[in-house]
Amino acid sequence: MDEIILLKYGEIALKGQNRNTFENLFIRNLRRRLRGLGEFKIEKAQSTVTVAPAGQADMDEAFERLSKVFGAAAISRSAVVGKTYEQIREAVSYLDAKLQSAKTFKVEAKRSDKAFPMNSPELCRELGHDILERYPHLSVDVHRPDLTVWVEVRDRAAYLHVGQLPGAGGIPVGSGGRAALLLSGGIDSPVAGYLMAKRGLEINAVHFASPPYTSERAKLKVIKLCQLLVPYTGWIHLTVVPFTKIQDEIARRCPEEFFTIIMRRFMMEIASRIGAARECAALVTGESLGQVASQTVQGIACTDAAAALPVLRPAIGMDKDEIVAVARKIGTFETSILPYEDCCTVFTPRHPKTKPHLPFVLEAERALDREALMAEAIAGAEAMLIDDNTEC
Ligand code: ATP
Ligand code: MG
Repeated sequence: MDEIILLKYGEIALKGQNRNTFENLFIRNLRRRLRGLGEFKIEKAQSTVTVAPAGQADMDEAFERLSKVFGAAAISRSAVVGKTYEQIREAVSYLDAKLQSAKTFKVEAKRSDKAFPMNSPELCRELGHDILERYPHLSVDVHRPDLTVWVEVRDRAAYLHVGQLPGAGGIPVGSGGRAALLLSGGIDSPVAGYLMAKRGLEINAVHFASPPYTSERAKLKVIKLCQLLVPYTGWIHLTVVPFTKIQDEIARRCPEEFFTIIMRRFMMEIASRIGAARECAALVTGESLGQVASQTVQGIACTDAAAALPVLRPAIGMDKDEIVAVARKIGTFETSILPYEDCCTVFTPRHPKTKPHLPFVLEAERALDREALMAEAIAGAEAMLIDDNTEC
């Protein structure tokens, strides 16, 4: 039986003159996510995109993948059948597993092709009757059925499905340009990357590693987190920056209370440079106001002063519980909580300044050759592209 996947636009439908650009990006991203699953024919049709297999294709996996592509408000999968009642009735077998496991059902029909000989109520009645005959364990419940069988008779064909699911929401990745995500191995930054990809940013990740204080395992964990984000972001360009020397130098030459803030200023500036070289227009972090000493308004003022690009902090107003809920939904939580050493936790000062004042921080930094340290770290950075095929 022929099948089709239908994606209904969310915000794309509200775009005016730019709508075409958004639609084309959406289709490009759908195509990218379908790679390796077979041949597909993708078409635009009035605020929806249809995806039909052209030959052998893994439709279960295709549906799963497309439900994570930003830009769709709703997604459904249906059988495509000829426009006679007999063909529609035969096609009920397409829903066999669902009808077997339901106890109650109803039929909804929509007929946009008025040449079809039965009207919608007749079609509902007739098909309901035939389903009851074939599945005697079922009963009809028009108010709260376990399953709603939809029949849509349109111009080209009739479609049979069980309703739509919510799509991934958001707007297509790439429509807002590109951003550099400061990605640690924790819970918050992968969530921040997901949230900004949802608003159309293509994600490049920058991770600071401090071997031998941080292990190879910590790096692999970050690669794994990128992989888990790929279903949403399409792919991720990751840069791993050696950070040990910078941390050692700060620890040796700067007052302990400023350690974290100075370190975070290095991260911002290095990420800005790496990001700018890769055409990123913004930085993204997983900071949440008040969560730790460096995430106060005063701490943010000091770190922002070192960033050459605007800093987006989508989790800034979220509680840990709220961030965790998103991490669970997108599947990064279990990996994020694996024990690991982060470069931030290696040198945590006993009494960090919670309200650092920028002039004092700048004064403390004068003991360092920041420029040389940053140049060396960037020169030693390792870059990789993470997609579905990356092994970990
Ligand atoms: P996360 O759960 O994302 O690690 P956190 O609550 O542990 O966040 P911090 O360690 O203070 O917070 O870091 C704040 C933000 O700084 C992180 O969300 C991330 O964007 C960035 N960051 C921290 N450590 C690193 C790192 N090793 N590499 C890249 N970015 C980092
Ligand atoms: Mg962290």
